[in-house]
Amino acid sequence: MADKPRFVMCICTGECPGFQSLNLWQLINRVRTELDVEYAIVHPQLCVEDGDRFWQDYAKPGHTYVVGACDPVMQRKMFKDAFAEVGGNFDQQVVSLDLRNMTTDEAYNKVAEAIAQLG
Ligand code: SF4
Repeated sequence: MADKPRFVMCICTGECPGFQSLNLWQLINRVRTELDVEYAIVHPQLCVEDGDRFWQDYAKPGHTYVVGACDPVMQRKMFKDAFAEVGGNFDQQVVSLDLRNMTTDEAYNKVAEAIAQLG
């Protein structure tokens, strides 16, 4: 893999009960400073229209994205078309992680494991 993975955290508007045990900023800062990623960013709600526009702007063939959000099957359904529209391939480029109902440490460990597997 040419580049390190990008970590993209979707926080479900910040209001979703599924993320209430998670300290978003602790997680994102630990990921960006402690793990082998290019960088880490947050999007508030990837599964709506501006999320599609974000992926269409942002997704680049050849890059790998580790996405912390909801159910991986749902992520695939919601994001794959936006990747395809810009010549990408969701199945090859995205590692989807369900980080709902986790503490910050649990979520961090799951991200760390995914990043290590890509290395
Ligand atoms: S992609 Fe998943 S985590 Fe993100 S806003 Fe939509 S339902 Fe919530």
